[in-house]
Amino acid sequence: MKRFAVAVAAVFLGVTALFGQVRIGGNSRIIHDGSADGGRAAAVLERYVSEALDSRLKVLPGGKSRQGDIVIRSVPGLGEDAFRVRTEGGVLLLEGEGKALVYAACDFLEQELGMDYWGDGEYLLPKAGKVLETGPLDRLEKPAFNFRQTQSYMLHRVGAATSGESRASVTDDLYRYWYRLEEPSDVFVDNLWVHTFNRLLPASRYGAAHPEYYAFFKGERHPGSAGQWCLSNPDVLEIVCSRIDSLFRANPGLNTISVSQNDGSDTYCRCPDCQRIIDEEGSPSGPMIRFVNAVAARFPDKQISTLAYLFTMVPPRVTRPLPNVNVMLCDIDCRRQTSLPENPSGQEFMKCLEGWSAVTDNIFLWDYGINFDNYLSPFPNLHTLADNMRIFQDHGVKMHFSQIGNTRGGDLAELRPYLVSKLMWNPRASADSLIRHFCAGYYGDAAPFIERYISLLEGACIGADTDLFIYDTPVSYKNGMLKPELMARYNRLFDEAEAAVAGDSVRLMRVRRSRLPLKYSALEIARTLPDRDNAAVEAALADFEADVRRFGVKSLNERNNSPLEYCGLYRERFLGDARDNLAYGCSVTYVKPPHERYAEMAVTALTDGLYGGNGFRENWVGWEGTDGEMVVDLGRVCTVRQISADFLRQGGAWVLEPEAVSFAVSEDGSSFVPFGTVGLPENRDLKIGFRDVSVTASPVQARYVKIEVTGVKQCPEWHFGVGNPCWFFVDEVVVR
Ligand SMILES: [Zn+2]
Repeated sequence: MKRFAVAVAAVFLGVTALFGQVRIGGNSRIIHDGSADGGRAAAVLERYVSEALDSRLKVLPGGKSRQGDIVIRSVPGLGEDAFRVRTEGGVLLLEGEGKALVYAACDFLEQELGMDYWGDGEYLLPKAGKVLETGPLDRLEKPAFNFRQTQSYMLHRVGAATSGESRASVTDDLYRYWYRLEEPSDVFVDNLWVHTFNRLLPASRYGAAHPEYYAFFKGERHPGSAGQWCLSNPDVLEIVCSRIDSLFRANPGLNTISVSQNDGSDTYCRCPDCQRIIDEEGSPSGPMIRFVNAVAARFPDKQISTLAYLFTMVPPRVTRPLPNVNVMLCDIDCRRQTSLPENPSGQEFMKCLEGWSAVTDNIFLWDYGINFDNYLSPFPNLHTLADNMRIFQDHGVKMHFSQIGNTRGGDLAELRPYLVSKLMWNPRASADSLIRHFCAGYYGDAAPFIERYISLLEGACIGADTDLFIYDTPVSYKNGMLKPELMARYNRLFDEAEAAVAGDSVRLMRVRRSRLPLKYSALEIARTLPDRDNAAVEAALADFEADVRRFGVKSLNERNNSPLEYCGLYRERFLGDARDNLAYGCSVTYVKPPHERYAEMAVTALTDGLYGGNGFRENWVGWEGTDGEMVVDLGRVCTVRQISADFLRQGGAWVLEPEAVSFAVSEDGSSFVPFGTVGLPENRDLKIGFRDVSVTASPVQARYVKIEVTGVKQCPEWHFGVGNPCWFFVDEVVVR
């Protein structure tokens, strides 16, 4: 009888094998090819297949397979990052090259075991029973883009630089494989992948002795760490080529280097030679591509990458990039409420994409998909991702970076990288199905409410006719997609979502974390409302503060301002007693007036009791490239012992602290007596910050208070606006 059973089992196994099926059970082995990636793929399978089957599978580096085994083997020729999952003779075969073997293992777990991996050790893995019967299978997977890069807090330690991070800072070993993601350091020599001018030709070494290596405009050369090069200078080419040669020699195995402009707009060289090329080519990309072509010609077996970004976004009319010139094209200025061809900024960009794709098939497309000034601001662009990526693919884009921020607590910080990564592999996939699938697994019973929130916000954003921009504040949307009636609906949906998973602490935590952008937006909007209920705002702030502590939110924006610091400043700046100020509600006369864009705001902003926030779009008054001077009329003669003015620092937007502030007082408004002057040391911190400039002196009688501000006026050499006018902003004057 026993012999009969064995015979039946053998026949059964033979029959399943014949039909291409594989029965994976406790006796199955995982046999890999001994390579590092083969071993990694085997380890991933061992862990999760064993868990699904409740029995430990054996891993063998090499050996003969038998029915029921999983074989991981290098098979060349499938294409870059492509892999094949198939069954043959009762064996499961995972084939590819290098890391694609790990992709194949993850794909098998996802497709055949129904596993979802969300990162940070969170996943859903259904039990498979004692035996997993699978097949027949033969699936060949190829990526739409050969290089796929995005951001997630699962990939990087929060607060780590988004570029140049070392592998040691990666927090989740599986995430990048599961989502088939790559890093610049996988491809670019010495992590030289963007804004590399100063690393290739350090201003600290060449700036003083050779200003002629640097950009000429507004009558002078602008050497400096943020300065651009004079691309028609032959010495620059020689120095850079020799440096590149040594970098390639020092980093064997990596064949790509970036020769790309420093960050900053409008800082390119207009010396007569460069200007002549710009005129011939119809764009500042002309001198750049000619220069990079000259480099590429010296290194024909290497890839030389360069930026088509800001002033170099428009392709040159005459010169074509050599085949080994990689063009990193960035759509930074585009609006995101619709797909690119559906809004004017996107249409502008489309012309550039079409232009570049007509002259090269070596494009690296850098896309942006979050609010970088406020990561915790709703950013409803998910509906545009697939459309845009299909367009990129159709224009021959080979490499793609979707920059979406990497902070815990950021807007849909788990769904966003999931969707982006899936679409980067296959932009033809349905974004709606992917969102639905993710929400069902990740939020469970709360999923319908979160999905409704996502669609409602998307419709509100398009309907409000406001641009969705990557440098912005929720305040910009307070009369549009974040107006009170809509905020009430979003909050109701989140209340329902929380109620639906009240008994499931893990999912409840996920829902609450996803609600943070709403809470943050409500606080940001509240600070701009003169008739706010301070007690209610104080309670909302305490709730937000508890959440950011609980969820470990480390960063509010690209400049890494901390949310806890934000809460402290919020209490100090927005919840104090505005009326404890002799200047409150008083009129202001401008002797040296602000930029015309702020003329209207300037009428009341300095004495309205409302401080400005991280963005300069509300409550701030700005001066560009000039000094400022204004007089506050206190309405009657008062005893004055302290005068203060509050300034913004936002280096990313060319807003610098002033050089000096002087206060003077007068009883009659014509003869002023100095009250005090404060000189401010240069502050190069790019973090957003505020500077309260204050003078306390012996009490004097005064009705008029004069404030003279000496601005920096021109962006210094270390700043990426080098040579261009910079700003200063004031939001409030306080007299006590
Ligand atoms: Zn020049």
